[in-house]
Amino acid sequence: MTDPLVARMRPFGTSIFAEMSALAVRTGAVNLGQGFPDTDGPPEMLAAAEAALRGGRNQYPPGPGIPELRAAVARHQRRFWDLGYDPDGEVLITAGATEAIAATILALCEPGDEVVCFEPFYDSYAASIALAGAVRRPVTLFPDESGRFVFDPDRLRAAFSGRTRLVLLNSPHNPTGKVFSPAELSLIAALCRENDVYAVTDEVYEHLVFTDSGAPHVPLATLDGMRDRTLRISSAGKTFSCTGWKIGWVSGPKDLISAVMRVKQFLTFVNGGPFQPAVAVALDLPDTYYRDFRDGLQARRDRLADGLARAGLRVLPSEGTYFITADVSSTGTADGIAFCRELPERAGVAAIPTQVFYDDPEPARTLVRFAFCKREEVIDEAVRRLAGP
Ligand SMILES: *Cc1c(COP(=O)(O)O)cnc(C)c1O
Repeated sequence: MTDPLVARMRPFGTSIFAEMSALAVRTGAVNLGQGFPDTDGPPEMLAAAEAALRGGRNQYPPGPGIPELRAAVARHQRRFWDLGYDPDGEVLITAGATEAIAATILALCEPGDEVVCFEPFYDSYAASIALAGAVRRPVTLFPDESGRFVFDPDRLRAAFSGRTRLVLLNSPHNPTGKVFSPAELSLIAALCRENDVYAVTDEVYEHLVFTDSGAPHVPLATLDGMRDRTLRISSAGKTFSCTGWKIGWVSGPKDLISAVMRVKQFLTFVNGGPFQPAVAVALDLPDTYYRDFRDGLQARRDRLADGLARAGLRVLPSEGTYFITADVSSTGTADGIAFCRELPERAGVAAIPTQVFYDDPEPARTLVRFAFCKREEVIDEAVRRLAGP
């Protein structure tokens, strides 16, 4: 039998996450591969979800999302980023950031249109671009001498063509932990304006920029001339430790949101009825929630970084997100995939080789991504195991 799968999806096999998580389960390894927290989110949010579940909010919410959540999303962006969006027409609630990304690309890209994106990229980007029949034009992020991930501005400029439809930007960036600097964002914005293309920004880690990062988080939509050409995506999963709820949102000018809505209504229509009011409560939590959340992750980043260094690995700086990168070449390994395949058996820890997020893995052959969004005792156990007997 020939493969029944459409040709454009055949390059996308089972993900490395599935392979490494299965390996972790089989070997009893501490799983620092997949990036989900192992504690629940704020109690106010959980109580609101419980009340909604028992309070008759279990049917289809309105297509764009419940009004109280759209209003909370708009308030939140005004509070933190001074960005104004009309909750009626400029905010759309989606099934996580993943659906927002897919619906946006499917809504905006004709077959053959090009999407400029930075590699390594989050695994759903390439698949969503392929589903739309569009073409990805990756620009490579690679570590400089200090270990900070950078790109060649000429390569970025050269990635634009007459077929470019949009730039897809993720900052703070998974898997590298990079926060794009103001200078880098200015260049990206200038190229969007010069080439008259849209920007789609994945900002799910908007609240996870560490205090010792070189730059604060700056939404691309706040730069000159960018608000009206940018679709800004975020999600509750990472900020409120509820990745299983899949409540995301996209904000932008009315005509773009309306286009995304046209596609989204036939993907999931709606989702997460009782979770929507709960996320509205979470978004309105005081600034102290967001600060403590960041500080807690930063402390765990440092805990894991120290442990990785003590285990003899070279640790690259992590400015944000749930992730930190280590260079494993010091262990005599030339390939991160081989290293990650044997690590659960050898040391009882699972991690993800960074190269799987690249089209051209060359700059990341020996880089490995570790997640630190875990309880302190879990991180300590992983560190103990990595240090060896
Ligand atoms: C986790 C993650 C997503 C997916 O978010 P959901 O809300 O779970 O769909 C998207 N982009 C990046 C960079 C992520 O790390």
